[in-house]
Amino acid sequence: MYSVNYHRASSVADAAKQLKNGDAKLLSGGMTLIPAMKTRLAAPSDLVDVSRLKELQGVKVSGKTVTIGAATTHYDVSTDEKLKKACPALAHLASLIGDPAVRYKGTIGGSIANNDPAADYPAALLALGATIVTNKREIAAEKFFKGLFETALKEGEIITAVTFTAPAKAAYQKFRNPASRYAIVGVFVTKGKDGVRAAVTGAGEDGVFRSKEIEAALAKNFDASALDALKVSAKGLMGDLHASADYRANLIAVMAKRAVAAANA
Ligand SMILES: Cc1cc2nc3c(=O)[nH]c(=O)nc-3n(C[C@H](O)[C@H](O)[C@H](O)COP(=O)(O)OP(=O)(O)OC[C@H]3O[C@@H](n4cnc5c(N)ncnc54)[C@H](O)[C@@H]3O)c2cc1C
Repeated sequence: MYSVNYHRASSVADAAKQLKNGDAKLLSGGMTLIPAMKTRLAAPSDLVDVSRLKELQGVKVSGKTVTIGAATTHYDVSTDEKLKKACPALAHLASLIGDPAVRYKGTIGGSIANNDPAADYPAALLALGATIVTNKREIAAEKFFKGLFETALKEGEIITAVTFTAPAKAAYQKFRNPASRYAIVGVFVTKGKDGVRAAVTGAGEDGVFRSKEIEAALAKNFDASALDALKVSAKGLMGDLHASADYRANLIAVMAKRAVAAANA
């Protein structure tokens, strides 16, 4: 076992200060970072733990504006009564992440900072037109998710919250890997004042993406039947031991239809 310096941050400002130590990394739920350290894929000199910071925890709903602190666990997102009323689709998505251990420890901030191409939250934030708030600036989800495990975050930048306007209708459906529960394909659809948005996770070679063809079909008629003729191309989609690119293309259409049916239910 190699040694690592552990700091429990007392505030976001303190965390920002501690991150200047050596090759320091933020620790939130540790569900991704700790396994990466065990396998030496990550070897930070210092860990700066933000998971207990009250200022980063909890869900706030004010009118239609929803704000979720970065260190809010998946469990807390999935069970928050205010969120279940304002945007039940996001609470439902959080309930589908991993297993109980992952949901009790893992956090929304850690998940989106990691930007795993099969993670669930990136699809939701893209489809909700969310804003990612950091200790330095605000970043539109569209500009935040850059590619596989890549985000717009700069060195030492800390996500403090995500915020969005609750849409009139939304739903998420995923076809999950039965072992990890990560998405083989997940589709989040929303219908709000700015129209229809559909984002796909688990399938893109460059990570999460918006599907213009699904959005165009649903803009005319927000009904699952509007996607009956949809043929999704496998170009740019991942193929791996879990599913070929063609299979994922088919799943995108199937999950999109199920999501629209759920949003209208
Ligand atoms: C068995 C298993 C199954 C899983 N299944 C799913 C699934 O079905 N769907 C899904 O979406 N995910 C799944 N996950 C991932 C899980 O959701 C993790 O919670 C998530 O990937 C990382 O969140 P974390 O809070 O644990 O972050 P950590 O592991 O603590 O950190 C992850 C990365 O984010 C950085 N970071 C953390 N907090 C911040 C912050 N506030 N600002 C900036 N950077 C930060 C860290 O430095 C690190 O680089 C699974 C994980 C496991 C182990």
